[in-house]
Amino acid sequence: MRPIGPGSAIGVLGSGQLGRMFGIAARRLGYRVHTFSPESDTPTGQVSDREWIASYDDLSALRAFAENVQVVTFEFENVPASAVETVAACVPVRPRGEVLQITQNRWREKTYLASAGVPVAPFRTIRSLAELQTALKDIGVPAVLKTAGFGYDGKGQRKILRPEDAAAAYASLGAGDAVLEAFIDFEREVSVIAARGLDGSVVHYGLMENRHRSHILDVTTTPAPVPPGLRERAVDMARMILTRLDVVGVMCVEMFVTRFGELMVNELAPRPHNSGHLTIDACSTSQFEQQLRAICGWPLGSTELIRPAAMVNLLGEVWSGGEPRWENVLALPDTHLHLYGKSEARPGRKMGHITVLANSVEEAREKALRARDSLVPAAVSNS
Ligand code: AMP
Repeated sequence: MRPIGPGSAIGVLGSGQLGRMFGIAARRLGYRVHTFSPESDTPTGQVSDREWIASYDDLSALRAFAENVQVVTFEFENVPASAVETVAACVPVRPRGEVLQITQNRWREKTYLASAGVPVAPFRTIRSLAELQTALKDIGVPAVLKTAGFGYDGKGQRKILRPEDAAAAYASLGAGDAVLEAFIDFEREVSVIAARGLDGSVVHYGLMENRHRSHILDVTTTPAPVPPGLRERAVDMARMILTRLDVVGVMCVEMFVTRFGELMVNELAPRPHNSGHLTIDACSTSQFEQQLRAICGWPLGSTELIRPAAMVNLLGEVWSGGEPRWENVLALPDTHLHLYGKSEARPGRKMGHITVLANSVEEAREKALRARDSLVPAAVSNS
């Protein structure tokens, strides 16, 4: 099959910052970008040739979008399956719809991983309070209750510390389908960003270490300080998952490293991921260009890490004292500022990120955290 060449139009379902960074990578290689979502003037729309604004249920708009592009990918995994099917009837969707279908639902994802022999936290599927109460007896406390569908950045999850808290936790999540997981007292959280080409070849960026704040990714550093054997196991696991799922594109495999040096897969994201943003500045080929290469059928690029790196997210809070002091970050060497073009800085909203390259991971992390602090006007950071 001939690759989809520069000049062709790529369709993106979704319109957030992941689509924006993908769109920038695609445009750099001479492609046209169309984005489809219900909103206008979006992070992806701002860098696209065409912004299709319609509901994901509008099948005729989806068909028109699909007829105007040569391949479709997604940057947002909560796109309804019906939307993907409609598009896939006209044009290739990569990764394929089934990958999205499995990964957008925690029941299906956990069950799939467990059946593939991938280690995951002990879990039970929950359909009712009675099932939750029984599951708590099996799994024990503390445990984490998560909605089966449409969860991200810790939305739709509750930690259960005592069995008698089950009813309140279940009600607060809407009392629908859920997954109960054992709480893992992990040593660290890591992720493998890997890409699989149309020819089945797989490349990866090694291990990212991720630290969260209020369930939202806060800091990513690479390389993660783990023994080589553990790194190899994590990468082999990611390679196996991408191959078994027949992914074409980038996938992030999020894992816990337990205090006993075991790996447990927490979540799959079938797209470029926040923990891979530092690949834009720190690696030979970014995760976004890798996504483009994979879905167009080109050879995958080198994932070589140029220097140790750290990425810190900029959430809406950074704007709490007024316009951030951009000059403080722009004056720093080896420091790269990325902003997503969002006009409203709400607390918890991902507005941008900073990547710092340094001689060691520790130095990169420290400089990145200091750079972020320097953005907030002094009156607020000292209060
Ligand atoms: P998730 O939405 O599943 O990616 O969870 C968001 C974050 O919550 C993870 O990155 C962990 O920091 C934490 N978390 C989720 N599940 C568990 C678990 N079973 N045990 C301990 N921490 C968890």
